[in-house]
Amino acid sequence: MREIIIIGSGPAGYTAAIYAARANLRPLLIASSVEAGGELMKTTEVENYPGFADGIQGPDLMMAMQAQAERFGTEIVLDDVTKLELDGEVKRVTLGNGDVYEALAVIFATGSAYRKLGIDDEDRMSGHGVSWCATCDGFFFRQKTIAVVGGGDSAMEEATFLTRFAEKVYVIHRKDSLRASKTMQDRAFNDPKIEFLWNKEVVHIYGDELVTGIGVMDTVDGTESTIDLSGLFIAIGADPRTHLVHGQLDLNPDGTIAVAGRSSRTNITGVFAAGDVIDPTYRQAVTAAGSGTVAALDAEHYLAGLPKELLAKAESQSVTV
Ligand SMILES: Cc1cc2nc3c(=O)[nH]c(=O)nc-3n(C[C@H](O)[C@H](O)[C@H](O)COP(=O)(O)OP(=O)(O)OC[C@H]3O[C@@H](n4cnc5c(N)ncnc54)[C@H](O)[C@@H]3O)c2cc1C
Repeated sequence: MREIIIIGSGPAGYTAAIYAARANLRPLLIASSVEAGGELMKTTEVENYPGFADGIQGPDLMMAMQAQAERFGTEIVLDDVTKLELDGEVKRVTLGNGDVYEALAVIFATGSAYRKLGIDDEDRMSGHGVSWCATCDGFFFRQKTIAVVGGGDSAMEEATFLTRFAEKVYVIHRKDSLRASKTMQDRAFNDPKIEFLWNKEVVHIYGDELVTGIGVMDTVDGTESTIDLSGLFIAIGADPRTHLVHGQLDLNPDGTIAVAGRSSRTNITGVFAAGDVIDPTYRQAVTAAGSGTVAALDAEHYLAGLPKELLAKAESQSVTV
């Protein structure tokens, strides 16, 4: 049995691991089989993570976080968690390869998946003109023509924000009216840099190294046309990765895991959650890292209050059940 198991290897998971390892809690981090490193593995330049004046490539940042977590004794397993039994003092974590681990505390940091359009070249062009985050990437599109896909509040917010940088912002929506709130709609309608393309769906992304244009289809008459642009921001929502804890952890109406106040404490004692999986709003690497810190400190505090015999059992036993 372990003192603590961390699930997820994004900024939240690795930061939690750094803190837990430095507190001598010998964390085991389950990093996932194919998606180790989390969302930043899918991008190129990260310019807003503090400490890197010249920016850093997303994968390099995540490898540095991994190395820092390992330096203090974090053990990392490249597999997926397939089952979680969180009730009771001892939590059970089952992996894809069948191994079962036990721990007194669990930090759940599985992130959130941006919804995709599901078209060719969307993944290939991620970080090369296709983006899911205006805050992260807007700066790269100064004086450029770009498009935002979506019709909700976040699409309007992204489009309005992006007019600070871009020369022109198309908002592409597959219907003829928006889901966004009246205030957000008005703000977008009144912005001279924004042009709405109604009843349109993006069906192609063009470009070799960088995005050079998109193909859109009219959802009413099926005709296709091409738009020259350099950036495509996809703002059609995100799904927190919570399927493993459905029926165990309380969720908010927006699908994120519910935590108590500013803490990382979930409704189950000894289970903590951090990063984008609890955050419907900010969803940045640095906020996820901060949230991982909170979770590690909460878990450390929780473990310190457990009976000494139980802790001794965790310290003396080997990794696998
Ligand atoms: C293309 C792109 C570019 C971005 N650019 C920036 C940027 O420039 N600056 C910035 O601040 N933010 C950026 N972001 C946002 C940032 O990446 C996220 O806010 C941040 O990664 C969230 O961290 P996290 O640790 O909560 O989750 P994630 O990074 O999503 O990590 C979650 C981890 O959990 C793992 N996991 C999930 N399910 C399981 C399971 N069952 N078993 C084991 N492991 C599991 C995943 O594999 C992953 O390793 C970008 C996001 C994207 C998609």
